Amino acid sequence: METKNDRAAWLAGGSVRCSPPPAPMQHPRRLLLLGAPGVGKGTQAELLCGAFGACHLSTGDIFRAAKSQEPCRRTPALAEALDFMKHGHLVPDETVLHMVAERGDCLKCHGGFILDGFPRTLAQAVALDRLLTRAGICLDAVISYDLPFEQIVLRFIGRRTCSVCKAVFHVDARPPKMEGACDRCGGALFHREDDNPASVHVRMEAYETSSAPLVHYYEDRHVMVHVSAAGTPEEVFARTLSMLEDHPDFPARR
Ligand code: AMP
Repeated sequence: METKNDRAAWLAGGSVRCSPPPAPMQHPRRLLLLGAPGVGKGTQAELLCGAFGACHLSTGDIFRAAKSQEPCRRTPALAEALDFMKHGHLVPDETVLHMVAERGDCLKCHGGFILDGFPRTLAQAVALDRLLTRAGICLDAVISYDLPFEQIVLRFIGRRTCSVCKAVFHVDARPPKMEGACDRCGGALFHREDDNPASVHVRMEAYETSSAPLVHYYEDRHVMVHVSAAGTPEEVFARTLSMLEDHPDFPARR
């Protein structure tokens, strides 16, 4: 059975290492997920990680993990970042890029990765290109999850996240076996602070202004795969795998 690592190197940064260390993959998969907030990227990232043995690298999870630190241990930049996040605004590029650069080894990990929530601006996309070039690695594909706005709002309302392992559930579309508890680790499920209507509105605006142009950025580089995010997580996942298999640059290797 596949053993998931605790993503400690990504969540904590610095000299912290994952436990257990990621299993070396003969062909590590390196994917980047795009899509509006609430479209289900986190859920698809989990499913893709399960299928490919890759690590789920979410910048949102770094900030949420930092929130559980004692306030006195937070750097001023991190405290400021958490305030931006709480109100639904994007964290400044400088802070995000500093955090990702600190975790550059995760991009080189021989287990592969699924990037979720990064990059979110063109400046971040350019910086990621530089980090990947320096590491001598390429993205296998960029997946854009597409869904109409009204359906996204319904997903926000029902979304629940595990406070321990960060797995994502939905009260209707992907309910946990036991109400309020994570299927994977038993951790308590919570409704994200930034999933309230006011923050959702700000996040959607931030997406339209800053992140939507990334679709064109990656389309120009011929690595883009568009996937409809309508339906259950399992349906979207099956659609994703089939689109990847049809993608000329995505090696058919397991
Ligand atoms: P997510 O879990 O990806 O929806 O991210 C939650 C929040 O974290 C976002 O609304 C932003 O406030 C912040 N955040 C996460 N990733 C980034 C990023 N790459 N750039 C700027 N802000 C980010």
